[in-house]
Parts: sequence; structure tokens; C-alpha cells
Amino acid sequence: MNRSLNNISVTTLKGVGDALADKLGRIGIHNIQDLLFHLPLRYQDRTRVTPMGALQPNTDVVIQGKVLASDIVMGKRRSLLCRIGDGSGSISLRFFHFTAAQKNTLKPGVEVRCFGEPRRGATGLEIYHPEYRVIKIDAPAEIEETLTPVYPATEGLTQQRIRSLCEQALKFLADESSLQELLPAEFRQKYRLNSLVEAVRLLHKPPPEESIVLLSEGRHPAQQRLAFEELLAHNLSLQQLRKRVQSIGGFTMPPANQLTRKMLEQLPFSLTSAQQRVAADVSKDMATSLPMLRLVQGDVGSGKTVVAALAALQAVENGYQAAVMAPTEILAEQHQLNFSSWLKPLGIPMVFLSGKTKGKKRQEVLEKIASGEAMVVVGTHALFQDDVIFHKLGMAVIDEQHRFGVHQRMALRKKGEQNGGLPDQLIMTATPIPRTLAMSAYSDLDVSVIDELPPGRTPINTVVIGDDRREEVIKRLKMACLEGRQAYWVCTLIEESEALQCQAAEVTAEQLRETLPELSIGLVHGRMKASEKAEAMKAFKEGHLHLLVATTVIEVGVDVPNSSLMIIENPERLGLAQLHQLRGRVGRGNIESHCLLMYHAPLSQQSRERLQVMRDSNDGFVIAEKDLELRGPGEVLGTRQTGLAQFRVADLERDRDLLMAVRTAAQELIRQSPEGVEPLVNRWLGKGEEYANV
Ligand code: ADP
Ligand code: MG
Repeated sequence: MNRSLNNISVTTLKGVGDALADKLGRIGIHNIQDLLFHLPLRYQDRTRVTPMGALQPNTDVVIQGKVLASDIVMGKRRSLLCRIGDGSGSISLRFFHFTAAQKNTLKPGVEVRCFGEPRRGATGLEIYHPEYRVIKIDAPAEIEETLTPVYPATEGLTQQRIRSLCEQALKFLADESSLQELLPAEFRQKYRLNSLVEAVRLLHKPPPEESIVLLSEGRHPAQQRLAFEELLAHNLSLQQLRKRVQSIGGFTMPPANQLTRKMLEQLPFSLTSAQQRVAADVSKDMATSLPMLRLVQGDVGSGKTVVAALAALQAVENGYQAAVMAPTEILAEQHQLNFSSWLKPLGIPMVFLSGKTKGKKRQEVLEKIASGEAMVVVGTHALFQDDVIFHKLGMAVIDEQHRFGVHQRMALRKKGEQNGGLPDQLIMTATPIPRTLAMSAYSDLDVSVIDELPPGRTPINTVVIGDDRREEVIKRLKMACLEGRQAYWVCTLIEESEALQCQAAEVTAEQLRETLPELSIGLVHGRMKASEKAEAMKAFKEGHLHLLVATTVIEVGVDVPNSSLMIIENPERLGLAQLHQLRGRVGRGNIESHCLLMYHAPLSQQSRERLQVMRDSNDGFVIAEKDLELRGPGEVLGTRQTGLAQFRVADLERDRDLLMAVRTAAQELIRQSPEGVEPLVNRWLGKGEEYANV
């Protein structure tokens, strides 16, 4: 038996037919290896019988004793109450659902063994609906020899079933070569990792002396052993990906400086030193023949756009096209405005392409892109579509990385391939990604950070206030606007329902117009036509509107220096990063700015803490770290959208401490036993198409 376990289908196991295989498939189990890596969520200790005199509430236990009494009692709900004792003490079993047969079985004098969790009840300690078995005195039932695993399951798949399948799968481990140890011995010693097979065995059948606490928290050395290997495999896969991309080669686009100098001369400001440093990183990358893969992180308002424009210019100067891609229509439009104000005076032809560019206009744009007449193309993910063919795409800027996944990064890489190389990629994110997460999610990228805001910004004063003080807030808003300032009023609703959110914004705008007839109030939301949105934005930007009522669509891209007040309704519904983004729309000029977070009481403890963080900090990195702590990485990165890998064993939050070591370990493994890399990646990630194709 020398086939690797991820090639042996679960259908080879006893009792697994198509129907069961289907159910298993639904929870990601296709082969024997999947089953072995399908680790228990928690464990029960059924290895010993606890004397009733020693019972503690709220811990699962096995008990055994004689039925002393058994009665149907009428309390709030009718139940079968069965008192059992073992000489050391007694306890009640309570059944709200029971059959006549059950009542007959549990009659006084019968010996039963039960498993369940004692809780304080009307008669002292009680176990509700325990698992139980009648025991024949002369033939005592066996007790479990190992802790009992409780697996993640799915509809129609019982614990019993999964346990017996795992039992079968474990038999494959008898053959030493079946689940090969891919980490060299010295390596394992250095990182204190025991053998893979031992770890897997232990986790499916932990001996009774293993700590159930460590196991339930996922901190048992055996779990950490697997998590380490899994994280290592992910890290290596991203590095492989990077290597493969680099081996395809890129375009050499050295700085020519002519246009760059002109653009810098025209800017109404000079670059901050952080901007200069990052722009230099980018420029250097572009000058090499390797495709650039660089992530630029910078807080809201740190001035990433200018850096992107300089990069686009460098491509253009070398005769290549540049694409600039944003995740939303509004942000793309904003970029279009900025880029044209900087590039048009230099005579650089640009086009715009989004999902809303249709018909003849779209044809025209596509032709200009294909012929190379358009040198800079700004747009949304519409730029990914198959019929968008570039003449000579040299570099792509992707803004707001957290909404684009690895898959899109790769789709774009392919766009440039027809010219015998891959376009340079500049990925910009305004959501500071905590370092630990960045390391694991983006280890295929180089990272530059713009860690300085342009001078002259006044910090935003953030206040957390209940919506019972709405009138007061409206008064304050009126005063500010009559003094010539501009304000945003942001409506939030459950993010999934854009329609409801838009409706809320419409209603709010209506109400505010009624209450504040002296102000001119505009509205933008995602369901408006692009032209309507653009009109409202323009009116606001030009100062014709005092107040802009908006949904979270203004999160990114909007730039109006005169706006100095923002009211966010129900901020507790949003992530901290998103709130920080929103808030970054004010404080762009030199007037003191305010942000009112108007929550709806009562707030949960966690929500209170989160809003407190917003009040106390203006630093995107601090906020992101805090957000990670409070909500976990899935939420912070928006796992669904990022295409960020789903882990089987590892948990980025729980295993944060491993990430640093994993990074070093990955380098070491590549150096010491490069032949181990590929099998390791295949074991944990499979031969995913997306990786194979690049
Ligand atoms: P973000 O990093 O959030 O995308 P932007 O690129 O939109 O930030 O820049 C925010 C604002 O700051 C814009 O109005 C931009 O013109 C301005 N800005 C950028 N760099 C500087 C600078 N060095 N000095 C002054 N203002 C700047
Ligand atoms: Mg930006």
C-alpha cells in the first residue's frame, strides 16, 4: 500500500456508498487524508465513571448507579424524573420528551450508566436528556479507553458514523509510508514538532491523561504540530506562486523622469517623504525585468493615489499601457477625476471602463484599449472581462486590495501575458492589514508602507453618542453648516441588504430636508444612476450642498477638504476598519473635524469596546490590530471576498504566534530540502487549478 492517502477515495471504506460519500463531500471530505485531517471540535471524557458524590455542575461526565425512583412530574412542563444513586450520592435525570417504553425501562432497581452534563435544577444536580444504557450487573459494559472525539458534522451524518469512519481511516496509518513525514528530523526538532502520524493518531484518539482543556482550545502540541505544517504549506504555496510568476518574466520600464518631473511640478503640494520612499520602491521594481508584485499599505488620506499615478506614468513613458482598477464604481470615478487632472495636462490619452459602460461607448473604449490609443485605463473589475484586450499592458494598479482575492490578482496577471511577460502589479490598500495577517495572506507580495500623513491635517475628534440625542446632533449639524462647513450623514444597515440601506438613506434625507429647510441636502446611494451619483458628488464637492446623506458607498474615494463633520448612524453595525475608512472622509482640510458615532442602545460589551477604540485612536494600524483582536481574521479580511485560504486546522487568530516561526521555517525548508516543498503544498492545498495555471 504505497498510494498516498489523498488519492484513496472514501468510497473504499466499509459502508460508504454514493449517498454517504456525497454527504462527506459537503464537509470537504473526499479521501482518506481528508478524513484524517478532519479533526474533532472538542472531546468528551468517557474513560472513567465519576462517583456521584464528586459531581460538579457543567462538566460532561459518565456516571453509573441504580434507579431509586422514577416518576412523571408536572412542573412548568411535564417531565419524567428519574432519581439514581451509587452510594456516594445521587442525582436526577430529567426527560421532557420520553416514551412509555423509556418510562418502563427506567424502573427502580435497574442499573444504568449515563453520559451528560449535570446542571443545577429543581432537585439539586440534574442531567437533562442524558445518553444512557441499562447495564446488566453480571456483564458490565466496557468503558472507553480514549477521550471521545466530537467531530464537525453535517445533516444526516452522525457522530457515531464519523467516528467509525475515522477509526477505519486510522488503520491506514499502520503503514509507515502512507502519510509521509515531509519535515526533516532536525527541522522538527528545532521547531519542536513531533511526528505527523503520532499527532494525527493522538487527535482522533487521545489517551485519557491528555488535557481536555488544551485540546478544546486547540493548543495541544499535536494540534499545533498540524497547524504549523498547514501554515507552512500555505506560505510555501504563495512563494511558489511568486516564483512561477517571476519565471514568466515582466517588462523592463526604467524611470525616464520627463513626464514625472512635469507632473510633480504641477502638483499643488510636494510629496511627503513616505510617499517619496514608496514611489522609489515602485520605480525600482518597474525598472527590473521581473514582474512587480508590490502591496502598498497606507492609512486613509495618506496619499496613495499620487504614488499610483507616478507608477502609471513610468509605464507610459516606456510605451506601455497602465490600468487602474477600483472595487466600486464611485471609487473608480474618483480615480478617473484625479488621474485626468494630473495626466490630461501632460497629453496622455485616457479611457474609463466600468460595468455601466455599455453599447457603442463600450465598443469605442474597447477599441482604444486594444489599439493602444488609450495609454491609461481607469475602471472597475470590468477590466477583468475576457473581451478587454490590451495592446501592451505594462502595469496595473489595483486599489483596495482587501476586496480583490488571489484569484483576481491572477486573472489580471494573465491579461498581460500575450505580450510575453506579466504586467507589473501595484496593489494598494487603505485597510491597514495587521502585520501577522499580511504575512500569511500576502506572502507572495512585497510590501511598502506609507506611514505618514500629508502635513496640515488636524486630527478628527470622535464622539460616541446615543441616538436618543438625535435632536441635539441635528442642532449641531445645522450650526456647523450655517458656519459654512460641509457634512456627511451616513446611514448604515445590515450590509447584505443594499436595497434597505438605500431606502434608509432616502428616508433620512427626506426627514432632514423637512427638519432643516435652511440647508441644501443631497443624497447618494448605490442604487442611483451613475450620472445622478456623479451629479450629487459634484454638487457637494463644489460646495453647493451643505449636507450629503449617503450610504456606506462613500467609504472610499470621496475627497472634499471642506467637509468637517460626519455623523454615522448605527456605527455598531460596521467593522472598525470600515468606520475608519468612512471617518477618513473628514479631516482632509485644515479645519478641526468631528465624527459623531450615533449608536442605538443597548450596546453589547463588545460593541462598546469597539466604539471606544474609534474614539481613542486615529491610527489605522492600531484600529486594525484591535479589530482583529475583537472580531477575528475572517471578519477583518472579509474571508469570503478575499479568497483568503480557508484553513483546516490552523486558526489565524489562535495561531498568530506561529506565523513568525512559519515564515522563517519556510525559508529554511526551501534551502534545506527543496524537494519537500511540492508534496507539502499538495498535501494541504491540493493541486488547485489556480496555482497550476499561473
Ligand atoms: P488615500 O491614500 O486615502 O487614497 P488620496 O490619495 O486620496 O489618499 O489623498 C488624499 C488627499 O490628500 C487628496 O486630496 C490628495 O490630493 C492629498 N494629498 C496627497 N498627497 C499629498 C501631499 N504630499 N501633501 C498634501 N496633500 C496631499
Ligand atoms: Mg485612495
